[in-house]
Amino acid sequence: MKHPLKVCVFGGDGIGPEVTDQAVRVLEAVCERFNIPLEATSYPFGSNSFRETGVAFPEASRAAAAEADAVLMGSVGDPAFDHLPPMERPQRCLLDLRQLLDAWANLRPARMSGGLLDCSPLKADRVKDLDILVVRELLGGLYFGKPRTRTGEPGDQTALDSMVYHESEIERIVRLGFELAQGRRKKLCSVDKSNVLECSRLWEEVVARVAPEFPDVEVSHMYVDACCTVLVTDPQDFDVIVSSNLFGDVLSDLTAGLLGSLGVLPSASVGGPTSLFEPVHGSAPDLAGQGIANPMAAILSAAMLLRHTGGHEEAALAIEAAVDSALAQGLRTKDLLPRGERDNACGTKEFTDAVLAALQAHV
Ligand code: NAD
Repeated sequence: MKHPLKVCVFGGDGIGPEVTDQAVRVLEAVCERFNIPLEATSYPFGSNSFRETGVAFPEASRAAAAEADAVLMGSVGDPAFDHLPPMERPQRCLLDLRQLLDAWANLRPARMSGGLLDCSPLKADRVKDLDILVVRELLGGLYFGKPRTRTGEPGDQTALDSMVYHESEIERIVRLGFELAQGRRKKLCSVDKSNVLECSRLWEEVVARVAPEFPDVEVSHMYVDACCTVLVTDPQDFDVIVSSNLFGDVLSDLTAGLLGSLGVLPSASVGGPTSLFEPVHGSAPDLAGQGIANPMAAILSAAMLLRHTGGHEEAALAIEAAVDSALAQGLRTKDLLPRGERDNACGTKEFTDAVLAALQAHV
């Protein structure tokens, strides 16, 4: 008997548990089909856990994440705690989780599939071959830099966040960007703001130093503002984009928009022995509890999990093909439809049922 693939599941908040449940259904089905022994267990995590137990990231959940082969996460964030400073909100547990797993690289692939073509806000000829991988630094920069302070009296306050990067943090993410580009179309675009920021100047220097080690990869540099424009006008020009925590976060949401919705973009957060797989989107409080969220990002995160953990490429491809097939049949959750057509939308479970049916039919 093979060692089972141990997956620690954190549904989290808002639509997180709804879409994660569907991703687990697909994961279980595909693992059964491909004879991959699976042990997927759910643990409390996030604002719901905080509300019920007073702790957002309980010890048992930490231990389960650290011991698992992979973590599958939904999303965190609850408006009930938005009055608290960001670092005191329960949803901070996501940053803790990424730190715990030493997940310093976030891979966010945005690929157009035939079934999604009519969902893009751009003309088909601009997006039909879109295939971008955003490689985002995940444990440094503005989201972790210190000091982080607020001083002064209300009405006369000053807020300070710090963007901090050590050369070694830049080098490892840039190197990964190059390696990933080598396995794709061999184009790497490094995105920064080196005309203004010292961190970006250092970033640019590190890219220039590492580039000669990868002579087969064509390197370009873009300021983040210019990159936003070209992502909309000529998104097919990009292959791999490597960027800092802040810019990578923003740019990858933009790539989701090119595909039609935040609800379709999966991600893998890698670096340590256990990797984390999570949709790019948040907890979407506006949709939570209605059964209408798009489960695609979560389901495709499960495909990434299989690909990156244990190298189950065939099983990952089977999930991706099944999602494409559900889209090709015309199934659309509300987020993928224009306003006038949203009455025709399918629900979260209905979309997953179609993915499962396609899996049964094609495997
Ligand atoms: P969001 O991603 O939750 O939602 C932005 C928009 O996209 C909303 O209109 C939402 O309805 C839509 N959307 C998102 N996911 C969808 C899906 N699967 N199907 C259909 N539509 C979807 O971002 P937000 O509204 O800025 O943030 C809400 C909360 O989520 C906040 O607390 C925020 O901090 C948190 N957040 C968490 C993560 C994460 O867990 N990784 C990421 C981003 C935001």
